Amino acid sequence: MTVSIWQSNHPSSRDVDLLIVGAGLAGTSAALHARAEGLTVVITDQADVAQGASGRNAGFMITGLDTFAHRAVEKYGEEQTRDLWHLSADTIAFWWQVVDAAGGSVQADRRGSLLLAESEAEAEELYRAAQQLHKMGLPAIWHERDPLGRGYCAAVEQPNDGAVNPVQLCEAMLAQSGAELIGGNEVYSVQQDGDRVTVLTRKHTFKARYVLLCTNAYSPLLHPYFGDKVTPTRAQVLVTEPLPASVIEACGYSDYGYMYYRMTFDGRFLLGGARHHYREQEHDTTEDRLNPRVQAKLDEYLARRFPDVTAPVARRWAGIMGFSVDGLPMVGTLPAMDRVGFAVGFTGHGLSMGAMTTKRALAKLLHGAHAGAVDAGRFYK
Ligand SMILES: Cc1cc2nc3c(=O)[nH]c(=O)nc-3n(C[C@H](O)[C@H](O)[C@H](O)COP(=O)(O)OP(=O)(O)OC[C@H]3O[C@@H](n4cnc5c(N)ncnc54)[C@H](O)[C@@H]3O)c2cc1C
Repeated sequence: MTVSIWQSNHPSSRDVDLLIVGAGLAGTSAALHARAEGLTVVITDQADVAQGASGRNAGFMITGLDTFAHRAVEKYGEEQTRDLWHLSADTIAFWWQVVDAAGGSVQADRRGSLLLAESEAEAEELYRAAQQLHKMGLPAIWHERDPLGRGYCAAVEQPNDGAVNPVQLCEAMLAQSGAELIGGNEVYSVQQDGDRVTVLTRKHTFKARYVLLCTNAYSPLLHPYFGDKVTPTRAQVLVTEPLPASVIEACGYSDYGYMYYRMTFDGRFLLGGARHHYREQEHDTTEDRLNPRVQAKLDEYLARRFPDVTAPVARRWAGIMGFSVDGLPMVGTLPAMDRVGFAVGFTGHGLSMGAMTTKRALAKLLHGAHAGAVDAGRFYK
């Protein structure tokens, strides 16, 4: 990102304790955590609340990551996996607190999730994942047969999971935080001088005590530090017109997480995923557009697994996720800028990991606390 002398040349600056960049799940949850610190908080977003991935996702609050739990142990180690899965369970518990405090303005329910096996090989993997979940003290019910009767091979049920309207969730967190939101205000540059951070934006120059970047997929555009650590990755979704009756009571998740589906709160069928069929086209892009090939794969899947869903498709959309290089969220401060923190790289799991990751990001930024398995210090070992 560069900026001309005419785009941001404000004669006076505005002081703020904490400036959060990005008004998605990460930024609004960070603002809510910051309230307990007694800081004046401003959130700035180039668009508006929940206009990035946070307003385009499937609304699944699923415990875990994009890797099955036993595979995570192989990849990250036993202790880190335990930390990550409990961070996820705590994040979902946090969303429920927000939903309860919102007094009915956030649509959400605890319908649970079903991790479904598309093949015998995936069933084997799911069985081992369930064993690992039990070992970590997390609830998981093993189904040896397809609980949906739709040709899946087996399933793991996670009863504490649920679905939420993600836009309403972000709006509720913004309201509950008391933070000021400045929309339509792109951040052009962030520079720390001594203990003050100067932030050039479209409408203001800020002098902040602290800055927290919650810019996920767009982070590499803002600072080169993220260039080799966060890759923008596109995802595709479709939603039908309302159905006469529900066809699935849980959040369904299969093909190693590449396919996901549920009923919406107004009785439509939502289906997303299929990115893995055209990986190279959906990788390394911030372009918000439909990919007809991926959308055709969604249509095919709908016809094969849910032939009883005959209602026409009402809307199709895309969204841009921030994939980290090792699949884990990243919390830290920028090189040579200890007052500029970040919580990014949710790798398609912001509703699974968001709230407790941003809590750790704030603790790191304000108090120097280590962020556990999501600490970006792992890249420098
Ligand atoms: C189709 C789809 C389905 C998904 N389904 C699920 C799901 O079911 N469950 C789940 O857990 N996760 C899901 N995800 C992932 C989830 O949506 C993300 O992990 C989460 O929204 C990340 O939140 P965020 O706040 O970090 O990012 P975002 O919501 O993308 O927010 C980043 C914000 O930063 C702003 N910004 C960026 N750069 C600047 C700048 N320079 N100046 C000012 N503002 C800036 C952007 O405008 C944006 O609002 C899905 C994602 C997609 C796209």
